[in-house]
Amino acid sequence: MPKSYTALKALENNLEASLYIHIPFCNSKCSYCDFFSVTDHSLMSDVLDKTIAQTAQYIDYFGIKSIPTVYIGGGTPTSLPLPLLERLLDFVGTLPLSDGAECTVEANPETVSPDLLTLLSSSCINRLSLGIQSFSKSTLKTLGRHCDFKTNFAKLELVKSKWHGKLSLDLIASVPHQTVSDSIEDIDTAVSFKPDHISLYALTLEEGTPLFRLYSGDLDAIDDNVWIIAADHLEVLGYRRYEVSNFSLPGCQSRHNIRYWKLKPYIGTGAGGVSTLHTGDGDLFRIANVPSLERYLASDGLLCGAETEEVAGKSYIFEYLMMGLRMTEGIDKSDFRHTFGREITDTIPETISEWKTRGLAVETENSVVLSRQGLLLLNQFLLDALSELE
Ligand code: SF4
Repeated sequence: MPKSYTALKALENNLEASLYIHIPFCNSKCSYCDFFSVTDHSLMSDVLDKTIAQTAQYIDYFGIKSIPTVYIGGGTPTSLPLPLLERLLDFVGTLPLSDGAECTVEANPETVSPDLLTLLSSSCINRLSLGIQSFSKSTLKTLGRHCDFKTNFAKLELVKSKWHGKLSLDLIASVPHQTVSDSIEDIDTAVSFKPDHISLYALTLEEGTPLFRLYSGDLDAIDDNVWIIAADHLEVLGYRRYEVSNFSLPGCQSRHNIRYWKLKPYIGTGAGGVSTLHTGDGDLFRIANVPSLERYLASDGLLCGAETEEVAGKSYIFEYLMMGLRMTEGIDKSDFRHTFGREITDTIPETISEWKTRGLAVETENSVVLSRQGLLLLNQFLLDALSELE
């Protein structure tokens, strides 16, 4: 165990931390996905029991007294049979949730049923995040999605009639061969269901996935402008962008994800779950659970075979910039000062000055923000910042 781990426990006592629970099961594997999930459900019950036990152990060990947000993700949490999902939700309901805690569960349309919605409505879950991705037959086929477009429609209609909590929809744009009008049509259809929140991701070809093998040598099939134009369209329809890929109606941002981008502490449990806490020195401390069901089940002790990493110094500053600048509110100068004991404008002065001159960044009294165009060039800003940090 790293030396700072003891300091971590001491510091974290009475901690407010978010909770992420990873459920690494899906009904089928999508062709673009590199998340840790399996389609063999034979170890489901054992893995769930261990995940619940690990969550209870973490909360006790780190002295977590208040949980402002919970996110049950995966994988497809709703691929759990209802009695197992009920066991998990009952357990989450016993945790020290803050008043008004935001509790999200991810679902795929094919797993949505009246019984599922009844179960969620009677639990602590108050936000449903539905992986629609597209309503187009050909786009869904390219993505290797389990759901066809008719199921996406039908299950959304069911959700609208029976679910009274918050609703977020995931869409993907810039899929191979997808045109601007295909994506606009997806957005118009999604918006017709009046979700509170939409995540619109640009497809990334992740190495090792079937889609990468098919299209990494055929990049002409992918038009990055589709995502850019689709995102603009979403804003025209009244969904305000608050992060590179996230849009919401007023007051409906994902509080859980904002905590990630602000590097607030959270514990991540389950095989493949990741935690980010702070050491006694104020640096980041990351715990990455092993992405293997067999090794997760076979491991003992608090960490369940997890790998740990301390993120300090320049690496911490870089990660802070990388996450914080994703948000349209940018970086709060006083939070930077409080975290690192120095001004952001003294840390990367040349980068900020050059990007301001080019009209790609804005500095106010309280913040440093990338402009609309600057946000599209975030990676370049980070490269400039990195070379200045070194
Ligand atoms: S449903 Fe989600 S987690 Fe499962 S394979 Fe598809 S993209 Fe990956």
